[in-house]
Amino acid sequence: MSEIIPIKPISFACPKCKHPLRSIENALQCSECHLTYPIVDGIPNFIPEEALIMIAPNYRDIKRLEFLAPIYEGRLWQSFILNLAGGRSSSLQSIAHFISETLEGVTGSVLDVACGPATYGRRMASPHRSVYGIDFSMGTLRQGMKNIARDGLTNIHLARTRVETLPFENAVFDGAICGGSLHLFPDTALALREIARTLKAGAPLAVTTFVAGNSLLARMMKRRKNMYAFELPKLRQYLTEAGFEGFASKLDGTFIMFSTRKAMPSK
Ligand SMILES: [Zn+2]
Repeated sequence: MSEIIPIKPISFACPKCKHPLRSIENALQCSECHLTYPIVDGIPNFIPEEALIMIAPNYRDIKRLEFLAPIYEGRLWQSFILNLAGGRSSSLQSIAHFISETLEGVTGSVLDVACGPATYGRRMASPHRSVYGIDFSMGTLRQGMKNIARDGLTNIHLARTRVETLPFENAVFDGAICGGSLHLFPDTALALREIARTLKAGAPLAVTTFVAGNSLLARMMKRRKNMYAFELPKLRQYLTEAGFEGFASKLDGTFIMFSTRKAMPSK
């Protein structure tokens, strides 16, 4: 058996000014700008409720779909979405396998962006690897906390925050996951830049999302303002501009899984 090296925990940083946060009663407080973020049911909440409607027009949609959180991981729901996307060979298991392969050899801390009920994060947490899951939806995060408790996991932490202002310092993560949500972010380029900011050079990123094409889902997405079925060249351009390099993808209908990594600094 290999020796277990304790993982240095990552502290949350102020999403606004990125300075360290200190714990006060049921909250975290910024040492610099003194903003205070409540901890609700064990989940640090970095999004003030009143700001939600303003910052995200599709928040209402997300809120409406929160009731689905308990079934996100169900076989029926997964195959429903994958079928809509024209996927023939993908499943929750094959997606988890792809993410696991992308993160192979990664120890330390992994960021799980738009983690939902910690579907993939729970499967990636291990004694060698801590997972920090962030999501916009309090309802799905609560479901995530239930799933984490049920599975008896300790190496996974959840927080409610926007992808555009992650509550972490620069270059703290050894890897990242973004499963089934890149197409939902209002500003793809900004989201990818912010994820890249928190990654160490060379850290891998595993993504699942949807591309433009002939599936029913791609056609539905095309009609919606707040969803993007990506054209592949455009997606790769976003990644390069955000500071990622190396791109390997598996396409199944209009469902895509890809891996990339934060570029090494040029010499
Ligand atoms: Zn601050």
